Amino acid sequence: MPRDPRYDILFEPVRIGPVTAPNRFYQTAHATGFGWQRPQSGAALRGVKAEGGWGVVCTEYCSIHPSSDDSPYAFLTLWDDDDIAPLAQTADAIHAHGSLAGIELWHGGAHASNRMTRLPGVAPDVQPALYHLPATARAMDLADIRAFRGWQRDAALRAKRAGFDIVYVYAGHDYLPFQFLSRRTNHRGDAYGGPLENRVRLLREMIEDTKEAVGDTCAVAVRLAVDELHGPEGITSEGEGREIIEMLAELPDLWDVNVAGALGNDSRSARFSPEGFQEENVAFVKSLTTKPVVSVGRFTSPDRMVAQIKRGVQDFIGAARPSIADPFLPAKIRDGREDEIRECIGCNICRAANNEGVGLRCTQNPTMGEEWRRGWHPERIAVYPRREKALVIGGGPAGLEAALTLGRRGLEVALAEAGDAFGGRLLREATLPGLATWMRVRDWRLHMIGKLPNVEMFPASRMGAADIAEFGAYHVVLATGSGWRRDGVGVYAIRPLSLPEALTPDDVFAGSPVTGPVVIYDDEHYFMAGALAEKLAAQGHEVHYVTTAALASSWTVLTNEQDFLQARLITAGVAIHPLKALTAQGKDEVRLACVYTGREEAMPCGTLVLCTGRLPETALSGDLAARGIAAVRIGDCLAPSSIADAVHSAHRYARLLGEPDLPPRRERAPERSL
Ligand code: ADP
Ligand code: SF4
Repeated sequence: MPRDPRYDILFEPVRIGPVTAPNRFYQTAHATGFGWQRPQSGAALRGVKAEGGWGVVCTEYCSIHPSSDDSPYAFLTLWDDDDIAPLAQTADAIHAHGSLAGIELWHGGAHASNRMTRLPGVAPDVQPALYHLPATARAMDLADIRAFRGWQRDAALRAKRAGFDIVYVYAGHDYLPFQFLSRRTNHRGDAYGGPLENRVRLLREMIEDTKEAVGDTCAVAVRLAVDELHGPEGITSEGEGREIIEMLAELPDLWDVNVAGALGNDSRSARFSPEGFQEENVAFVKSLTTKPVVSVGRFTSPDRMVAQIKRGVQDFIGAARPSIADPFLPAKIRDGREDEIRECIGCNICRAANNEGVGLRCTQNPTMGEEWRRGWHPERIAVYPRREKALVIGGGPAGLEAALTLGRRGLEVALAEAGDAFGGRLLREATLPGLATWMRVRDWRLHMIGKLPNVEMFPASRMGAADIAEFGAYHVVLATGSGWRRDGVGVYAIRPLSLPEALTPDDVFAGSPVTGPVVIYDDEHYFMAGALAEKLAAQGHEVHYVTTAALASSWTVLTNEQDFLQARLITAGVAIHPLKALTAQGKDEVRLACVYTGREEAMPCGTLVLCTGRLPETALSGDLAARGIAAVRIGDCLAPSSIADAVHSAHRYARLLGEPDLPPRRERAPERSL
């Protein structure tokens, strides 16, 4: 299909200093969990982005010196010449599709843990090493600052030799150059501290040094947090953020601007911020510079993208998560297939991957992170050699993904769902506060299945073993999901309890009456207990949130949501009771025990809601086994987990059907040397 002319503006080339981006789609730096340890995985991932039409593709943070070591997290390094060849693979993979390769040179200052290198951290002042307590970062003297400028210059030269087109000066996310900029972290009394002109000095010198080193052929970009969201004591878009841009307006070749304070602010989940949420903080930048400006905001709608350009908010459409959920987003708009964009749902499972030190994963895109490891491509899949019949039972995330992927492979697919609507757990979970975008997991799959003549959909069709036998499919795939458990068994409390009066989230969604005071018991630690607490508090219930962990929804630390969530619960009047395990439910009360001492207490309780874990729905599987009918279980009915895991499980099954199930490749030595 030809492209809609409304979107032509997105495909205009844009000059960035000495280089030209082929279009306005700009994949800003984002972590992959691969880093220097897994260069081939990183190169393949970035190559797919370029293939999908992102005109600029940037790496994740790339350390310029061993005093900036983020171990155990995955980060790139340009510490010596041996780092050049592995990174050249990434630049080559991006260039293979005509895109520009950007590299985010990084020094974490007091935020670098240096657990591997065991060097003391460096900072404008003596400062606690935030991620490596009880260590302290030492104050940089003038000789240190001179050395630091040399590290940036040397890394820039190596980046140029590796083939990068855009080299970053990274002054965001509370890292070293930003620590110099902010009054909150710079208390120096010399030429690099005090008034803003002095605090900006290092950033100015870094830009000048980098330009002098590589500016003849490489664009020099500055990534700056223009608002650290700490109010007037920090950098704000109305205050010093604006002044910094005014002072340096024409110095870099590109401004990449965002908000900081913590990484979580910049990549807030949909639960806590809508699409385009940074605009109010960054929109002023373009009026102060003639240089191109890029920012982010989880943009997935081409019309909103066009509006960003036309309204003069930015010159590029900056994206990290939308490019993870759909590496081919630009190509789809280019080819008039914008309806096929697999929209990011803003769940931040991708952030959790890096925070856990594993390769990138995505709820919407099961191939993300698997490009090199398993050879999966988001848009291409091998046709299955025979047109066999497959019956998929259950229309949640796993069943929909299996039906779609088997359909793409050319099988004759029937998808049967007991309920009137497809979506499974999403039909319930997307009704929770802030989670409406999660329905995109269903909507995109339903839409794409609708394009396949070989996939038939059967809603309101509860299948028993006899129905399945009668249907006579060659492949029977069970995606029948899971149910919340009623016995109180969870992460911490592994002994079953008798709790006949308790409700589960399934009961609450089904409309079981809830009377206060409500005790929500979390021994699962992901989103459900926190979201239910928020929902029930909004309905006017007195809510007590009891958790065996120290924090509410503690696993969401990894999705960078926890601090937002806990603040929201406190503000909503939810009473949080950490580090307590449920031991019994009596009349109008529950009994709780301290997880350390076992000391018991009673808490008044009208309704107890158990969020402790889920059990797979295996009854149908058992019935089929009794009849000797072979079936494969996928998703939650195999092992209840995140939606991301259910989609991945289904995709893996469908992609590997008829193929050998080999272990994923692991990185050993680089395949290319310079
Ligand atoms: P997953 O996350 O693994 O996709 P879900 O719980 O979201 O799991 O979805 C499971 C779906 O399977 C639900 O929509 C449920 O109605 C459906 N289902 C369960 N048992 C049957 C059955 N016997 N026949 C048809 N559909 C079923
Ligand atoms: Fe978006 Fe979630 Fe995928 Fe991250 S994991 S890119 S937030 S859909």
